[in-house]
Amino acid sequence: MTGPVPYRGRFAPSPTGPLHFGSLVAAVGSYAEARSRTGQWLVRMEDLDRPREVPGAADAILHTLEAFGFSWDGPVLHQSRRTAAYAAALARLSELDLTYPCGCSRRQMAATAAAVGPEGPIYPGTCRRRPAARDIPPASAASSPVPVITPPEAIRLRVETPPLSFHDRVQGWIVQDLMTEVGDFVLRRADGLHAYQLAVVVDDAFQGITDIVRGADLTRSTPRQMLLQRLLGLPTPGYAHLPLALDGLGRKLSKSDAATPVDPRDPLPALLQAWAFLCQPPLRARLATPAEFWARALDRWDLARVPPRAFSRVV
Ligand code: GLU
Repeated sequence: MTGPVPYRGRFAPSPTGPLHFGSLVAAVGSYAEARSRTGQWLVRMEDLDRPREVPGAADAILHTLEAFGFSWDGPVLHQSRRTAAYAAALARLSELDLTYPCGCSRRQMAATAAAVGPEGPIYPGTCRRRPAARDIPPASAASSPVPVITPPEAIRLRVETPPLSFHDRVQGWIVQDLMTEVGDFVLRRADGLHAYQLAVVVDDAFQGITDIVRGADLTRSTPRQMLLQRLLGLPTPGYAHLPLALDGLGRKLSKSDAATPVDPRDPLPALLQAWAFLCQPPLRARLATPAEFWARALDRWDLARVPPRAFSRVV
C-alpha cells in the first residue's frame, strides 16, 4: 500500500533583478507551508527569458535566500538548461495536432484581436485557419528560382476546452473560460524561446511538485497550466496564490522596475514584515537570527490566515 505523496513545494524566481519584498513574500509563504508540513522545498531559477535577465541577479537571489535562512532541497534547477525537455513536450502536443504556427506580429494582433481579456488581447485565431505547410503543394524549382524565406513564427496551442475551475487554498474557487478569456496562447515565441506557461508545467512535473504557493499575479495563469498538464498527461498540483505587495502609492512591487531590494545584511526586519504581510500571528520573541525566526515561525504558520485578496498594501 502506498501512503500519501509527500509534500513538495518550490520557489521559482526569474533573475530579472535582485530579490525584492514582493518575491520575499512568495518565498516565505511557499517555504513556511512546505516546511511546516515537513515537506521539501525546491528552488528553480526561471532564466528562460535570456533577453530580460539581469547579469548577476540569479546568484544575488540565491545569496539573499541563504542570508534569509532558507534552505532548499537538491540542486537549483535552471530553466536555461531544460530546452530539450520543453521541445519534447511541444513535439508531443504537435503530434496530437494541438498546435499551429502563427506569424502574426504584435501590431497585427492588436489590430485584429477580437477582444482584450484580463491577460491581454485575445488572439482571433487568424493562423489557425491557415492551411498547414504540409497541405500546400511545394513550388517547383523551375517556377520559383528564389528560395522562399518564411519569417520566424510562434507556435500556439489550439484551446478547445470548457471553462476550467480549481480550488485555490487562499483565493477560493477560480473559474476561467480559456476560450473566451485567453484564446489560443503561445507555447514557443517567434524568437525560439519556449513560453513560461509550457516551461513551468514541464518543470513542476519534472521536479515532482505537489503544491504551488506563489503570487496572485499568476492566479489566472493556472487554468492554462492545468490545461497543458491535462494534455501532456501530467499531474495537477494544489495551488495557493498569495496577495501581491503594493507600495505606498498602490503600485505592484516588481524586480524589473527596481523596487527596493531586500537587504541580505539585515534579514530580520524584512522577514518579520513579510510574516505580518501574510497576517501570521506575532512571534513574541526576541529574535536575533533568521534561524531563530524560522524555528519559531514554522509551527505558528497557518495558510488559512492569509487573506483571499489579489493585493495588499505593505504594512
Ligand atoms: N518566475 C515567476 C516569477 O518570478 C514565478 C513563476 C511561478 O511561480 O510559477 O514571478
